[in-house]
Amino acid sequence: MSERDNDEEFAAITTTLKRHLERRQRAGLRTLPKISPAQRKPVTFGEIANPAGVADLQIDTESHVSLPAETLEDLRATIGDCQRCKLCAGRTNLVFGVGNPRAKLMFVGEGPGRDEDLKGEPFVGRAGQLLTDIITKGMGLKREDVYICNVVKCRPPENRNPEPDEVAACEPFLKRQIDIVRPEIIVALGKFAVQTLLNSKMPISKLRGVWASYHGIKLMPTFHPAYLLRNPADKKLVWEDIKQVIKVMRGENP
Ligand code: URA
Repeated sequence: MSERDNDEEFAAITTTLKRHLERRQRAGLRTLPKISPAQRKPVTFGEIANPAGVADLQIDTESHVSLPAETLEDLRATIGDCQRCKLCAGRTNLVFGVGNPRAKLMFVGEGPGRDEDLKGEPFVGRAGQLLTDIITKGMGLKREDVYICNVVKCRPPENRNPEPDEVAACEPFLKRQIDIVRPEIIVALGKFAVQTLLNSKMPISKLRGVWASYHGIKLMPTFHPAYLLRNPADKKLVWEDIKQVIKVMRGENP
């Protein structure tokens, strides 16, 4: 490759990177995604893969670009009076999340319903009561011991499913929330939480009950409490999943 080709290639890469960073900024992202060492591809110059010293040149993707949201309060302030997707038009309150910011256990649901929208707190309606029973009666914990949030922070009209653009607009905030709380275990409730966090299109019926990993955090996919209200016979399956979570919280192997 000639020097000129090299220069042109370098210019193209920096333009692409600049555009990408601007897009992230417009989406409200203040950090770069965490990339585990295993995900990092060796840098290749022409035929020479990873020549001595190249590792030193890698951008540290775990560092923060501009103003980082280091706390949940920072993150809430970053979200602000969010207008990033169409759900803002119908909301009463943005439902950010609730619970212990250092929780070992985090529950992620789909999105606020009517009661949550009115109160500004996740899982306070009928499905919320069932989740609270799972936490308190099933697991012997207090609601305040865990952290609870949703994939989308604003209520979809008529409780419809969140649409892909809405999930995409809110996803960075969920992921930062998880990053800040850094729980040991996530229980992903229902299709939207499971598929978003696992970046999978597999049906929840196939994924539930099997430990997965979200960036090194153990993730248990299970049915959503609202589904259980419609299908109470499946409560026993969720109880099986929750028992697995309890075991791991007690230090037993999954
Ligand atoms: N369903 C959810 O997914 N989240 C809530 O906060 C309430 C109901």
